Amino acid sequence: TVPAHIRNFCIIAHIDHGKSTLADRMLQLTEVVDPRQMRAQYLDRMDIERERGITIKSQAVRMPWTVREGERTGESVILNMIDTPGHVDFTYEVSRSLAACEGAVLLVDAAQGIEAQTLANLYLAMENELHVIPVLNKIDLPAAQPEKYAEELAHLIGCQPEDCIRVSGKTGLGVPYLLDEIVRQFPAPVGDADAPARAMIFDSVYDIYRGVVTYVRVIDGRIEARDRIKMMSTGAVHELLEIGVISPEMVKAGALSVGEVGYLITGVKDVRQSRVGDTVTINQRPAREALGGYKDPKPMVYSGLYPIDGSDYPALRDALDKLKLNDAALVYEPETSAALGFGFRCGFLGLLHLEIIAERLEREFNLDLISTAPNVVYRVDLEGGASVVVTNPSEYPTGKIHQVHEPTVKATVLTPNDYVGAVMELCQGRRGVLQGMDYLSADRVELRYTLPLAEIIFDFFDQLKSKTKGYASLDYEPSGEQVSDLVKVDILLHGDAVDAFSAIVHKDKAYAYGTTIAAKLQKLIPRQQFEVPIQAAIGNRVIARETIRAIRKDVLAKCYGGDISRKRKLLEKQKEGKKRMKMVGRVEVPQEAFIAALSTS
Ligand code: GDP
Ligand code: MG
Repeated sequence: TVPAHIRNFCIIAHIDHGKSTLADRMLQLTEVVDPRQMRAQYLDRMDIERERGITIKSQAVRMPWTVREGERTGESVILNMIDTPGHVDFTYEVSRSLAACEGAVLLVDAAQGIEAQTLANLYLAMENELHVIPVLNKIDLPAAQPEKYAEELAHLIGCQPEDCIRVSGKTGLGVPYLLDEIVRQFPAPVGDADAPARAMIFDSVYDIYRGVVTYVRVIDGRIEARDRIKMMSTGAVHELLEIGVISPEMVKAGALSVGEVGYLITGVKDVRQSRVGDTVTINQRPAREALGGYKDPKPMVYSGLYPIDGSDYPALRDALDKLKLNDAALVYEPETSAALGFGFRCGFLGLLHLEIIAERLEREFNLDLISTAPNVVYRVDLEGGASVVVTNPSEYPTGKIHQVHEPTVKATVLTPNDYVGAVMELCQGRRGVLQGMDYLSADRVELRYTLPLAEIIFDFFDQLKSKTKGYASLDYEPSGEQVSDLVKVDILLHGDAVDAFSAIVHKDKAYAYGTTIAAKLQKLIPRQQFEVPIQAAIGNRVIARETIRAIRKDVLAKCYGGDISRKRKLLEKQKEGKKRMKMVGRVEVPQEAFIAALSTS
């Protein structure tokens, strides 16, 4: 297809504003999906995506469309719809999907109005210089207020309220008109057809039968089925086994040229060899310069994952090896914890990424896991000039520390006017610094904060929701790092540090952390033959203390003589219990105590 007859676009929306439903209607209207095979959320292929109603991996689909009404009636084009992941952890993937498009449909629920993710995605679209069509969705709802929100949307992007297209993804109302407008308003792709080939990878997915499937958008030149391709970030050369387009299943093609979107298969078995953002060129006639914007995925949040049953350790390792094939951002290495045994320290893009991996390990691989409290990555400058990266609090340097850097995020919070005070209080309590505030309308406010990432990954989102009765929304993106007054707090049982509970926290929050964990453990750990002090300490300085009083454990005393079989049962039970005990120094701790203490912190 010549570029003039191609339109590449994405749909950007806050979660639940109807992106998947609208995509379904488009697939139906363009007759790409057979009506008998249509199912809701057709493009959300992973089970977790379907259940949670979120898109984790982006997808692309090619749809032929002939303009039905207006000035270009009868014109036939190829629409490539590129679906973007819908969550903050995947900002980089979103930005690459947007970079593969010329236009973005900005979809807003007509009963909800603009939300934080709408704004964050709009900013990304603007950075990528996309043409934006504002669309109000769900106009079939009785609660829809299209007039009000058209006003808001027009104000935001600088157009007229009449320019906002009104649709219902559910009933299909207005969707053909939207497709016509996509053809009319979005620019056709431009590129140099004679230049050496350059295609940008916007997604790559591991398929057990075919190996890695790489999704690309061709910027310049042409890739043919017989070519040998070269990845520009690594220089690796691969034989092409197949190229094609997705419509909505994979369909082989002879070539992909300027402006086209499709897939490549090379037989590579690991998505790390086909990285999002990288440039693909042809080995015989390579491009000199890669396309801009490539970044290595960088884990932002670390957590220890341990099998509850120690004998599952090899199974956990195999499962991680398998998931890694499909996830270039997942990193892990073996780690041993005195409290939890053998496990892995894993790095994730963010909390949702962590949850998704943990859930897949439990569901797809049948593993029962315990994860330690997540922490961010710290950079510690030592006195004398050396600098260390700390991904695990128990590896925090013990020598003299000059300063500590922690990662920060730029957060966008959208809230009704009434809750501005509550939101500000929450953000300030989390060491946030207000960067700006705008009224989207008389009663809705956008607040922009810089916050430490560490303060967001605990229960920030839940707190925000509960303090605003669910009305506020949040989005954020990484924004570098800052120097902060941070300390490592250790939790000691009878004088021995319990590695799983060490945490790096702000100096002002060390006491609260120490007392909370100490109090929790005091309740969870049974009495021993001797008195056990629980202490929270910064270095040698104890900042909080609880005590578990001694007890003489005489279980048989409870059975007033008599029943011998009952006594035996009791003894056996106690033996069973012992097996699940972990020794921390001289103290016996049931594994459940660690699990309970970690799961609520
Ligand atoms: P996404 O998170 O943006 O992909 O949103 P979904 O497409 O999953 O839609 C979220 C919810 O809104 C689902 O329950 C849909 O059935 C519903 N929904 C989507 N579009 C419409 C619409 O046009 N009208 C109505 N009434 N409901 C809709
Ligand atoms: Mg969706």
